Amino acid sequence: MSGQDCIFCKIASGEIPCSRVYEDEATLAFMDINPANEGHVLVIPKEHGADVHEISDEALAATAITAKRVAGAVVRTLSPEGLNLLQCNGPAAAQSVMHFHMHVLPRREGDALAMNWGLVPGDIDAIGALAERIAAEL
Ligand code: AMP
Ligand code: ZN
Repeated sequence: MSGQDCIFCKIASGEIPCSRVYEDEATLAFMDINPANEGHVLVIPKEHGADVHEISDEALAATAITAKRVAGAVVRTLSPEGLNLLQCNGPAAAQSVMHFHMHVLPRREGDALAMNWGLVPGDIDAIGALAERIAAEL
C-alpha cells in the first residue's frame, strides 16, 4: 500500500482526525481508537513505510525516542504496573495497519492481554547455530 492510501499517512497529514498526544517534525503520537488497555497510544513516523524493513533508520530512531517520551508521560498520568512498547511486522505478527507504528501499552497485573509466553529453555546448540546464521546475514 502506498502512502496515499494509508490511514496513518492521512492521520499524519490531518486528513483524518485523531486524539493527538504529541507531534514533532518526524513523528506523531495519538490515542489508539481500539484501546487494548486504558492509555494505549500509537507512535508513528510521518514518513511512510510499511514495517521495520521499509522505514529509514532515522524514522525508526525518531519513533523510538518519541515512544520513550510518551511512555514516561503515560506512566506519570496513569501509574500502570507495567508497560509494553510493542511493534508488529506483517499479518502473522498481528500487524493490521501497514504503516510502521509502535504501541505504547500500559499493563496491569492480571489484565487479559495474552502476550506473555512462558520461559521454556531451548536447545543451546541449536540457539548458538542460529545466532551464527543470523549474524552472517548482517
Ligand atoms: P497493529 O495491529 O499493530 O497494526 O495496530 C494497529 C492499531 O491501529 C490498532 O490497535 C488499531 O486499533 C489502531 N487504529 C486503526 N485505525 C485507527 C485510527 N483511525 N485511529 C487510531 N487508531 C487506529
Ligand atoms: Zn502511511
